[in-house]
Amino acid sequence: MALVSPIKLSDEEKLDVLQRLDRFRQWHFLDEKRYCLVCGKIITGREIQVIGGIRGNGPLRIICPTEHCNAMPMEWVRPTDEVLIKIALVEAERHRLDLINRAGRAMRSISKVNTIVRTRPKPPLG
Ligand SMILES: [Zn+2]
Repeated sequence: MALVSPIKLSDEEKLDVLQRLDRFRQWHFLDEKRYCLVCGKIITGREIQVIGGIRGNGPLRIICPTEHCNAMPMEWVRPTDEVLIKIALVEAERHRLDLINRAGRAMRSISKVNTIVRTRPKPPLG
């Protein structure tokens, strides 16, 4: 069970909350996108979770919708071309590492087979 459950707001209220609580970047509409520096995901204003406030959990806060992320507005940047290229590069790097890992595993299983073949005792000579 989550300690705080997100507050459901109408689109208008949500946008209003985003505009008030995000002092770093202006929100013009709910479907605006942000890149979360903490979890590395693209999030939209609509997805951002509003917690606290009304239900008596202290001041109203907005957090990243990604599970276990909870990043704050300060960590959300506009997905500019520069940011999108960075994301693409990180993805490509991850993919490359994945391939290397897979190749590594394949190589290990091949060398294991070779070792077995090599260490097989020689048949006794006549
Ligand atoms: Zn996040």
